[in-house]
Amino acid sequence: MQTDKYVLYEVLQCGDVEKLINADEPLLYYVTIEETFDVIKRAHIATGHGGRDRMIKELQRKYANITTKALELFKSQCEECQKKRKRPMTKGVVMRPILGKELASRGQVDLIDMQSVPYSNFKWIMVYQDHLTKFCILRPLQTKRAAEVAFQLVDIFLLMGAPAAL
Ligand SMILES: [Zn+2]
Repeated sequence: MQTDKYVLYEVLQCGDVEKLINADEPLLYYVTIEETFDVIKRAHIATGHGGRDRMIKELQRKYANITTKALELFKSQCEECQKKRKRPMTKGVVMRPILGKELASRGQVDLIDMQSVPYSNFKWIMVYQDHLTKFCILRPLQTKRAAEVAFQLVDIFLLMGAPAAL
């Protein structure tokens, strides 16, 4: 039984260009080195920046000699695809806020400097924020001395409970 498969090469005249084809069904074109880049690029765009396998599917119906390696190389060098791939990677670098598990488990205190626009003797606004709920309590301060801050803090703690971490 004859099982050898041999390729039927033919030259196809396209206008004034001659193209080497595999004349078996389906008819496949041989791509020159110079054409390879454009052919792959077209397939890559046509598949919506598709990956190797989608490009193979697109190309194997028309071309005889586009290698998987060339497709992988093109895909790895495509600027659009690199941008897309980088986005999830940077996600890991972004700092994730520490979240307390319950109300008043974490509290944060800041002072807003109002010295340039004092209200009678009050020159500071103390901001206490619950980390989980973002619930905010404001207190006016005359100074930022520890005793005054502590006095207001104790008042807030009595209102909503003392946090495990401040
Ligand atoms: Zn791409």
